[in-house]
Amino acid sequence: MAVRKILTIADPRLYQVSEPVTKFDRKLRDLARDLFDSMYAAGGVGLAAVQIGVLKRIMVIDLLKEGFYKAVFVNPVLIEKSQELQQGEEGCLSVPGLSLPLARPKWVKVAYQDLMGKEHTIEAEMLMARALLHEMDHLDGKVFVDQLEPDLRLSVEEDIALIKKGAEPRHYKVPPYRRKAS
Ligand SMILES: [Zn+2]
Repeated sequence: MAVRKILTIADPRLYQVSEPVTKFDRKLRDLARDLFDSMYAAGGVGLAAVQIGVLKRIMVIDLLKEGFYKAVFVNPVLIEKSQELQQGEEGCLSVPGLSLPLARPKWVKVAYQDLMGKEHTIEAEMLMARALLHEMDHLDGKVFVDQLEPDLRLSVEEDIALIKKGAEPRHYKVPPYRRKAS
């Protein structure tokens, strides 16, 4: 078990596109274990490899407690998404302390490989769909705070700038109702 440091958006790697996984070996399985360990240690429900500084297309999600799934997703690809959107708050271990509303498709279909390289597809809705889309964005160098409604984005601009400078959540200026413990 290895809990690894989770990068914040102060780190430019969070904005890079991750490389496909081509080797389904022991190293990949160790990486998946580290992802789960690091995610649980930080109290999150999803983590992409880039968030621990590994630019590979692998991510983990554990939403078992919320009635969905726990799985490792290697080389995930969005196949289909609903036009209908869901509203909901979103947070990110790389954007500590900020939890903000973001509309996402209500339903998605995603193709991915498991740790052995076997191909699967998953259909997911609500929170599971949100988590899949959020983590897949990380693999493409995208962070949820860059997809907010323009007015909302403007209202947290200062805090995002602070996080990018490495400040801690207690220094943020965001209204308290939009804060969450991280
Ligand atoms: Zn995230």
